[in-house]
Amino acid sequence: MALRPVVFSGPSGSGKSTLLGLLFKEFPNEFGFSVSHTTRQPRPGEVGGKHYHFTTVEEMEKEIQHGNFIEHAKFSNNMYGTSKQAVQDVLKNNKICLLDIDEQGVKSIKKTDLDPLCVFIAPPSLKALQNRLNDRGTETAESIERRMATATSALQYSEEKGVYDIIIVNDILEAAYKKLKEFLLQMSFFMELIILMYELIASFFASIVRWLIPVDHKSVSGEVCLITGAGNGIGRLMAIEFAKRRAKVVLWDFDKEGLKETSAMIRELGMDVYSEVCDLSKKDEIKAAAAKVKQEFGEVNILVNNAGVAYCKQLLDLTEHEIENTYKVNVLAHIWTIREFLPSMLERNHGHIVNVASTVGLFASAGMPDYCSSKHAAVGLHNSVFLDLQNAEKYGVKTTLVCPYLIHTGMFNGVHVKYDWILPPINPQDCADIIINAVLTEQNMVAIPGTMYIFHILSTILPTRALIAGYKFVGADKAISYFKPNRPYQVESHAK
Ligand code: ADP
Ligand code: 5GP
Repeated sequence: MALRPVVFSGPSGSGKSTLLGLLFKEFPNEFGFSVSHTTRQPRPGEVGGKHYHFTTVEEMEKEIQHGNFIEHAKFSNNMYGTSKQAVQDVLKNNKICLLDIDEQGVKSIKKTDLDPLCVFIAPPSLKALQNRLNDRGTETAESIERRMATATSALQYSEEKGVYDIIIVNDILEAAYKKLKEFLLQMSFFMELIILMYELIASFFASIVRWLIPVDHKSVSGEVCLITGAGNGIGRLMAIEFAKRRAKVVLWDFDKEGLKETSAMIRELGMDVYSEVCDLSKKDEIKAAAAKVKQEFGEVNILVNNAGVAYCKQLLDLTEHEIENTYKVNVLAHIWTIREFLPSMLERNHGHIVNVASTVGLFASAGMPDYCSSKHAAVGLHNSVFLDLQNAEKYGVKTTLVCPYLIHTGMFNGVHVKYDWILPPINPQDCADIIINAVLTEQNMVAIPGTMYIFHILSTILPTRALIAGYKFVGADKAISYFKPNRPYQVESHAK
């Protein structure tokens, strides 16, 4: 849905160009001018392609015959016209299209499906109009006479009911501009509001349709898919799932043995695999590993930022190194890998970035301040990158944010809530399946399980006292106290 174009009309000399000039100066990014064609000579200071496309009668007639004009008219012995291309040029830049056309043009354009808002700029009087045309010093006496002759007809036409949405008398320029601006802002506010309502309703129905009729899975066959933290847990399971779908998987982890095991599992599927020992807490290692991948495969199509660490200790018990390491692996590594592989995705407008965060990146849990805050940062990073891609209209570069609740992979060994049946830990394979489904159906976010969306909303709207009561009821306050270190770095950390 695009914003409606705005047609400016009024006698020559009434001040249309002056008012449009003020509008473009104040709102250069909101409005775009549909550059008309004319067979008249350029006035001093007029630039071809900016004020008009200056052309010849023969050329213009040929273009009209080819159906390239939305409307055209003869005015004061010259031809004028709006080409389809001129309007397209403005619309493709997502700007509101402004047109400056005469009475005949307005009549023609009303018959098209352009559906513009129509603004009439009137002079304070015919005498004032004549004075302005004289003062402008751009017309001969004959041309002024012809322009004055059409002015009367234009003014009469403007009085017909329903032709113009607003008539602005341009007497004092500042007052006329203020009135014009207020009208346009008001109209664009209502138009944008209508567009917003439309988008809300359309997206709501699209979600229902998506829910009822499963969306086709995209193919990842032959796509280079880099998964960080692929030596264990969910990273390994995702790598296997991508390999089953014939993606060329690249595995990164600092756990050499884990990488070997994952690679062997993928080879058993009859697929090639490329793995690289990479400590994701080290920017230089990430850069070096990325260079190797680019050399080997050209570009990465799917980047899965999965590697993460969790010490499961309270803020005052963590060492400075552990706090920094959590941030390096859980957030900074995402930033470094995205910076490595996004440029080529942007260039090709093709790719997919998957960021694995956590439900504790949406709301917090006790006893893991470094982990929670790093996951909040990962969520913010994802959302901001996603919005930047939307702004840049790089719709071919997809994004998926994954926010899983507690998964039984050993990373949070022993952690559980009081009523396990209310919030059971997620089976790792189920989790991997949900993530793969979200990626293949190009969902921008997936919380696992879906009930986590409710907890997310509740965490933002419940009064603090109710929130604490809820935490205690499910036992989320004590969940982390059951943690038993499992990964080597966790065992080492808790032995201190
Ligand atoms: P149009 O584009 O409608 O032909 P212009 O914007 O070129 O008209 O205005 C014609 C002349 O009138 C210009 O010299 C302009 O500076 C002058 N002008 C515009 N608005 C006012 C105003 N409110 N008061 C006095 N002069 C004006
Ligand atoms: P000017 O020669 O003063 O620039 O323009 C003369 C008249 O032609 C103005 O009233 C202006 O609105 C009109 N005009 C400019 N471009 C177009 C166009 O593309 N189509 C039509 N119909 N009129 C135009």
